[in-house]
Amino acid sequence: MSRQTGGCLCGRVTYRVDGPLRDVIHCHCFNCRKVSGNFVASSGSATSDLVIADEDHSLRWYDLGYARYGFCSTCGSSLFWQGAEHTDRTSIQAGSLDDASSVSLMGVWFANDAQAHVTIDHSVPQFAGNDEGDDV
Ligand SMILES: [Zn+2]
Ligand SMILES: [Zn+2]
Repeated sequence: MSRQTGGCLCGRVTYRVDGPLRDVIHCHCFNCRKVSGNFVASSGSATSDLVIADEDHSLRWYDLGYARYGFCSTCGSSLFWQGAEHTDRTSIQAGSLDDASSVSLMGVWFANDAQAHVTIDHSVPQFAGNDEGDDV
């Protein structure tokens, strides 16, 4: 079984994933643009495979009701995303992985909302929204 590790910039929030990582989705929706400062590139795993270490209680969740973003309140790193109707899965910011060599880009969400400076990779599926319904 694969084991992946990752964490935030300051190192107060770390995690390991005791299971398979999902390939990466780029999301250009409004929320992801704001929360990341650009766009979100997220892998993900089963929530039950994600073991978070956060001794200083730095992990906070910005809750939109239908979804929430997890971030380190000490250094500001964006780490996680979770849809309220899909709490069995947790998206993991690919940039927070210590080694993302095992995942590749699988799709682009909200491609039409990408800023002009972003070059969209048209070799992967594009979605005007996302492919899981209305939750972002
Ligand atoms: Zn941090
Ligand atoms: Zn998004």
